[in-house]
This record gives sequence, structure tokens and C-alpha cells, in this order.
Amino acid sequence: MLSISPTNEAIIFHKEKVIKLFEDTIKKGYILRKKVQKKLSTEFLVFLDKYKEELICAKPERLLEINQEFQKKRISSHQLKLIKSFFIQTGYKNFPNKEFLNLLGIDTCIYCNKNYTLDLDKLNNARAELDHWFPKETFPLLALSFYNLIPSCHSCNHIKHNNAPEGGWDNALQNINHPYLEDKTSIFSFSYFFTSINQPKAIIRFANTKAQNTIEFNKIDKIYETQSGRELKDLLDLRYKYSQNYLDILLNKTFTKEFSMSQEEAYRMVFGIETKEKDFHKRPFSKFKKDIIAELLKI
Ligand SMILES: [Zn+2]
Repeated sequence: MLSISPTNEAIIFHKEKVIKLFEDTIKKGYILRKKVQKKLSTEFLVFLDKYKEELICAKPERLLEINQEFQKKRISSHQLKLIKSFFIQTGYKNFPNKEFLNLLGIDTCIYCNKNYTLDLDKLNNARAELDHWFPKETFPLLALSFYNLIPSCHSCNHIKHNNAPEGGWDNALQNINHPYLEDKTSIFSFSYFFTSINQPKAIIRFANTKAQNTIEFNKIDKIYETQSGRELKDLLDLRYKYSQNYLDILLNKTFTKEFSMSQEEAYRMVFGIETKEKDFHKRPFSKFKKDIIAELLKI
């Protein structure tokens, strides 16, 4: 999993879109379902008015508190259905994901750093995938919250779906890492071992249990175990197939010396990856390849 630094443009864009929806709904007091007006309860509208700003931009811990506050209210199941429909159908389904993602400037999935965040839908239109860190089915109130929208790929979003990590969602912030909170990329690193001669396999080393829980919950270990074979083999070939360490020659001698490139440019040129943690998201496999190369250069 990578970290995300939110951009001001994305924060402002998101807030403008969502506050308008919230304020219009508070004013009207109803939502449209199949062209029929359905009245929202006063209790919910008062709640929404009180917490609207925080529901939009509070950090995950506070979002959880607001959600718990809401759960204390005695609201009929009919109203709960309407409220869920308001956040998910009226709100999130109409949210401009693509523009939002563009302003956030995240190019590959925050969970796997393997696939791009833009995908094609059935009509071949570009579609942006956003995962709800607190799943929207269980936490519909947080379906439009900035810090709950995580740029991901379709596959990781699907893997995570509505599953809960060990300890449940109420304790999730203690048990797994959140992309917008603490620094994540240095708490795990990719490595490899040989299952037999010529059979390398990618593995992940963790700095702590929380990192391990996060990687395993998002199945990132399984993804890399099964889908990084070619990338790993190419890097190992450059290191072991020839008598010289071609990784070192390419990165530290040929490109940097002869073409006066910086180290970053050489990595981009030779391996198509970014080497700065804040830029890992720009190109697939950046974190993976950078960790493996670092290990191979030491040998
Ligand atoms: Zn992914």
C-alpha cells in the first residue's frame, strides 16, 4: 500500500460538489426515488445539517465517531434505506470520480501499485475506481467523505469489497493502515527467495504487525506472489545472468555518467519506475522494483 498526499484542488472540488448536494437536500427535505418524492426524516436532516462539514472533510477517526453517533439514533428501517440510498445512489453514483481523481493526481492503485486507477467500462469509457475504505454498504454515511475515497484498481476494490479486517471495522484504524494516515511505504519491503534454482518468488517483509495485517487484508502479498514473476526474473537476470552486475552498470555508470542523468531519470529510463516515495503511484511496480533493485545492488 502507498501513501496519498491530498491536493488542495481535489479537496476544494470535492467539498463544492458534496456540500451542494447536502445543502439542497436539507432545504428540500426529500429525495427522488423512481421519480417519486420520498421524505427524509427531520431527525436525519438535523443530523446532516449538524455534521455536514465533518462528513465531508473529517479525518477517518472522526468519521467513525460521527457514524457511531448516528447509530445511536432510533431511525426506522424504511428511513435507513432512504438514507443509504441518498448517500450511495443520489450522492456517490453521481459523484464525478474521474475529475476528482484527476485533481488528486493518483495514477496507480494505492493498494497494489500494479494497475492504473483509470479503467475502461463496458462502453469503453474511461472509468475511475474509488474504494471506500470504510465500505459504503456498511457505512453509507461515509460514502462521500473525502478521506474515505481511495483511488484503487477494479481488482483491489473487488478483493476488499465489503470484507472486514480482523477485529472489525470499529477497530480497523488500530489494526490496519489507512492510506491517508501514517507513512506506509517504509513499513514493508519487497524481497525474493529461490524456491529452486531459477525459480525466484517475491515475498514481503514487514516492519510490524499492523503493516502485515494491512498487506494480508488487501491480499497484496498474494497479488505479487502470483503476478510479479516476469518483473522479478528480468531484474535477477540483469544481476546474475552475466558475469558483471549490469544493474549497477546501467544505473550508476552508463546512464548517469554518459548521459548526465540523475539517478531518478536513470531508473525511469531503464526500468520505467519512480524512485521517490511520493511518486511511486505514478508508475506501476515502482515500489516493488525499487526494493528489489536496492537489494540486488547490495550483493
Ligand atoms: Zn490494485
